[in-house]
Amino acid sequence: MHSFGKGNEKMKKWNLIEKINMECPLCDKIHIVEKRTRISKTIVKGEEVEYEEIYFYCANSADDECEFVSGRVQNDNLLNARNAYRVLHGLLTSYEIIAIRESYGLSQVDLAKLLGWGEATISRYESKAIQDEPYDNILKIMKENPLAVYEFLQKNECKFSDSKIFDIKRRIMANLNSYGREYLKRKALESEYIDFKEPCEANGNKTLDIDKLENIISYFAKKINYLYKVKLMKLLWYADALSYKLNGSSMTGLVYRHDDRGALPIGHYKIVGLENIIVKEEEDLEYIRYHFYPNDNLDGTCLSKDEIMILDKIIEKFKSYSTSSIVEYMHKETAYQMTKAGEIIPFSYAKEIKL
Ligand SMILES: [Zn+2]
Repeated sequence: MHSFGKGNEKMKKWNLIEKINMECPLCDKIHIVEKRTRISKTIVKGEEVEYEEIYFYCANSADDECEFVSGRVQNDNLLNARNAYRVLHGLLTSYEIIAIRESYGLSQVDLAKLLGWGEATISRYESKAIQDEPYDNILKIMKENPLAVYEFLQKNECKFSDSKIFDIKRRIMANLNSYGREYLKRKALESEYIDFKEPCEANGNKTLDIDKLENIISYFAKKINYLYKVKLMKLLWYADALSYKLNGSSMTGLVYRHDDRGALPIGHYKIVGLENIIVKEEEDLEYIRYHFYPNDNLDGTCLSKDEIMILDKIIEKFKSYSTSSIVEYMHKETAYQMTKAGEIIPFSYAKEIKL
């Protein structure tokens, strides 16, 4: 966050929102006053935060008495300041809390009933008070996992009418169909990585980063035609290994095992199943092949310039390799030769990759 000054100094920069003809409380006349906004500082819960402050400006008054606020603007300013504090502390803003509640078609009273909280609590969190962390966590779970809302509903069904229960269930299903499924599939992959929650040699000093993984797969699929699973898994290992060699950490945080056909990440079936991975099954005479395609909804902004450079290098090297030739290439790697079937391939061997 930028710092605009020290202490309680008023900021000089401001923006005009609009000019309004109104009764000015400073000079007691009806005239055009400017509604302005600027970045200010205030204290929230004993902590200084920067927030967007709105105020009115009267050009007819003396310099030190030319500003005023209405009651409504004052409330908005307090809301903005509290939301700035929330953002700073990774808490949901009041707007996000409202959006979560409304995504299940719940009134404030409904939400209070559903969670077993006091009725005034929700109303306060959406207007005045900053929520405590345990409350914030429950609201975040509601946002990410509609099934959790279903569990709350089952516990508290007696508090709702039949038609309201029907309505909430319908919303849960709709949310599950849109973003809930993505959450569950990510959780499925994450569950395979509970033993690798800390940076270590197995994950290349990086914990699992699913956003990055999805973007990397899409990037490979964009640049390489006919990208199939076995080859993709090797490309991921090479990208992670090269990143480790150059920067001391992998990109995706995947953990690879020694498989017949080279390095194979733990949870590879779940990687293929991620919502943001576009893959088509193609039936061969003998088996099913997974053909990967780019996902245009992923913008790649989470990939740094250095990371793109690494990916491009991997693509340049292996673009025209067939599955069997990249497997054969991988078989010659020290990382492969020094490990046995099923063993985790430590990233320390990445320093010796043949690239
Ligand atoms: Zn005035």
